[in-house]
Amino acid sequence: MIPPMPRSAYSTILIALAASAASAGTVAVPATPVSPYADTEAHAASLWAQTLSLCTPTNRHEVGCWIGLNTSSDTYSFTTTTIGPPTPNSYPSLIDLGNIPVDDPLFPKLSDGVAIYTVGSLHTHTPTTYREPDDPRIAGPSPNDQQNSLTLHMPGLVYDYEKPSSLTNGIPMGHPINAPARLYPTEKTTRRPYQ
Ligand SMILES: [Zn+2]
Repeated sequence: MIPPMPRSAYSTILIALAASAASAGTVAVPATPVSPYADTEAHAASLWAQTLSLCTPTNRHEVGCWIGLNTSSDTYSFTTTTIGPPTPNSYPSLIDLGNIPVDDPLFPKLSDGVAIYTVGSLHTHTPTTYREPDDPRIAGPSPNDQQNSLTLHMPGLVYDYEKPSSLTNGIPMGHPINAPARLYPTEKTTRRPYQ
């Protein structure tokens, strides 16, 4: 029996994952997962690939899911992928992942031995390839993403393009669709137990 870990540890693990991916630059998907956290990297990369495949000259979609952690297997799990609404080039994209999945059991006790917690959200941002020339947009979590994480007390991971080193402001419009991308974490957010 593996007791549930302190909940405060989860978001630290998840953000550490994203931070390590960020420091490594483009997230590589290993052929064989080298740690349980590689599952999250691989899933994020698959959502990014889906985002790129859904992008057309006229529409684009964010995609995302909730991330769960099973304390028995020490593995992450992912809810069914949500595909955001088709968004024309002149509008900012968005996604609604719906309600946070409740923990299982709802109020885990040490004697339960095992629990599945929701530990974060994951969503993609969209290519600017077909958007009209305009100001660059922020790379990584938007102000809304940061605020949502703080409000929900739920860390968020965002898959987005790397900021070109030649720019200070972020991702330019007309950016190549296959340009390097990576995971970014929201900041200063920790998972909080239910009250
Ligand atoms: Zn976002």
